[in-house]
Amino acid sequence: MNLCNPRVIRELMAEAGIRFRRDLGQNFLIDPTVPEEIAEIASPDPESVMLEIGPGIGCLTSELAERYRRVVAVEIDRGLIPVLEKTLAECDNVTVVYDDCMTCDLAKLLSDAGGGVPGVDFPVSVAANLPYYITTPILLRLLESGIRFSHVTVMVQKEVADRLAALPGSKDYGAITAVLGYYGTVERCFTVSPGSFLPPPAVSSAVVRIDLYPEPAFSPLSEKLFFDTVHAAFEQRRKTLVNALSARFSDVPKEKLAEIVVSCGFPPDVRGERLGTGDFVKLSDAIFRARNGV
Ligand code: SAM
Repeated sequence: MNLCNPRVIRELMAEAGIRFRRDLGQNFLIDPTVPEEIAEIASPDPESVMLEIGPGIGCLTSELAERYRRVVAVEIDRGLIPVLEKTLAECDNVTVVYDDCMTCDLAKLLSDAGGGVPGVDFPVSVAANLPYYITTPILLRLLESGIRFSHVTVMVQKEVADRLAALPGSKDYGAITAVLGYYGTVERCFTVSPGSFLPPPAVSSAVVRIDLYPEPAFSPLSEKLFFDTVHAAFEQRRKTLVNALSARFSDVPKEKLAEIVVSCGFPPDVRGERLGTGDFVKLSDAIFRARNGV
């Protein structure tokens, strides 16, 4: 069955009595080269357990199943049950879980599938054509989950891909870029036009792969303060870094914050968008010391 054929997709959905749900970001791939390519680059290790968010009718799921040891696919739309039961009937290494990827226990699902601690006893990676309405929350949930994913390969809106892979100082660089840099490196892999989906979305898309650091690359004195510092710097993007920090950290005198910024090696009027992840770690450590008198 060609799961990227628009006629096949429409027939499967008609048989199940369901329609595309725009509220769930249902734009299904109809260009077969795209799921193949995503599955191909998602992990170098065929022994990986793959987590897929939102299998839809299963076109990427079946490509993943061919290449990797096991696939756990989390789909929120229970209307797709009869479709996926049919399209994945021959993939005996796939488990589909009908749940919300934002609230379900991902570590437990992966542990049950792989046998042991994911990322420790077996390699685990993510591959997905993400529902665009919750791209950033899903990425943050995956990265903050504590699960030691090796790679996270996702299709996102092109503008989001530009932001995720931006360099410090560029117009697209933002809080999410600096936060992602804490966990790994981001590669923008390829772009996908609206015509590759049914129904076509209003925007272009792109696939990015995040290669996570196997061991933490940064050790801030306080992880929470590091994230607060990044968010403070970008909340007031047009302000200088000192003014932006002062708006957030009212317990530290502004003159002290100005002193900290300069002592970290930045110009006094620098803006947050110039700082890389390592710079934010240095800055948040200096704020931590000033606050705690150490
Ligand atoms: N993987 C399929 C493809 O590439 O054709 C479908 C991708 S479609 C862009 C996004 C999928 O995510 C849909 O199947 C949608 O129902 C599902 N989805 C949306 N929100 C979700 C959530 N919170 N948890 C799990 N799946 C979700």
